[in-house]
Amino acid sequence: MNNLNPKVSIIGAGNVGMRYAYALTIKGLAREIVIVDLDKERLSGEVMDLSHTAPYVSPVEIIGGDYSDTVGSDLVVITAGAKQEVGQSRLDLIEANVKLFKKIIPLLMQYTPEAIFLNVTNPVDLLSYVSYKLSSKPSNEVIGSGTVLDTARFRNLLAHHVGVDPRNIHAYILGEHGDSEFPVWSKAMVGGVLFKDYCPKCCRRGESCSHQEELGKIFKEVKDSAYNIIERKGETSYGIGLALVRITEAILNNENAILPVSSLMQGYLGIKDLYLSLPSVVNRSGLDYVLNIELNEEEQKSLKNSAEIIREKLNKVGF
Ligand code: NAD
Repeated sequence: MNNLNPKVSIIGAGNVGMRYAYALTIKGLAREIVIVDLDKERLSGEVMDLSHTAPYVSPVEIIGGDYSDTVGSDLVVITAGAKQEVGQSRLDLIEANVKLFKKIIPLLMQYTPEAIFLNVTNPVDLLSYVSYKLSSKPSNEVIGSGTVLDTARFRNLLAHHVGVDPRNIHAYILGEHGDSEFPVWSKAMVGGVLFKDYCPKCCRRGESCSHQEELGKIFKEVKDSAYNIIERKGETSYGIGLALVRITEAILNNENAILPVSSLMQGYLGIKDLYLSLPSVVNRSGLDYVLNIELNEEEQKSLKNSAEIIREKLNKVGF
């Protein structure tokens, strides 16, 4: 890893790729950002526009390039591919995007095989596994953005409910980044207080607290977020853009940050040979290790359910 001049390549200059590129530029985490897209005309416009941030940010070279320009990347972030349209689930994108990944991954292996691959394209867990298989890279170097975004949405809504800073909420959405994801209520905390037993806001007031019901509503809102946003504006991009910056920071700065990224399951609760999100230590090696979080019976069932759904879909596309 090139510590002095970190190089990040972004595959796909669409909504997600460009929001990430913008946030990454502002954060000053990379000295070189290469952006690759099939649509060269649009790409050159995006790069011109983004380059005009130069006087306000740390020095960074922004290049609209081709796969050959990704050589020597520390990190490659893959955002290319079909996105959900209104009424589509993430899983509906699998066939189109597997075809695309069969082209993209060999090119990345040709030009920048040492980079950490961070996949964002949906269905993210399936395509992260497909990337791992197609690349034959060590599994720690191929991760997916997983439920990092869903967890941010969850922490934000819980924080609003209680009226505290979202950064003080410790809570996770785990499993599939998709319809079978689930909240880990058994461990969700604010300031050391378990939400499931006591809502620091409602219970403190001594109100007849319906917080179990409230918490159910909060999770439903998290789960439906992408559908609700896509219905209104056609795509989701700000939240994922910054979630990707958070993962990038953990990798490039060797932070050992705990993030629910998607990674290869190696036997936790008997789940193997597919990608899912569990809290994981992320650093310069990519994924250092997965924390085998203690889940209650219902949460364990939910995780196994996510695994079954993902395995069935992977089988259907021949992986
Ligand atoms: P978009 O349509 O705006 O952008 C996709 C881009 O990929 C396009 O610019 C297209 O030209 C490009 N592309 C296609 N084939 C390519 C190739 N072979 N090489 C290089 N570029 C290529 O879509 P978007 O809104 O940016 O979404 C991108 C993906 O990210 C979708 O699959 C979406 O579902 C996913 N997404 C994931 C999360 C998450 O949390 N994991 C969140 C939001 C969106």
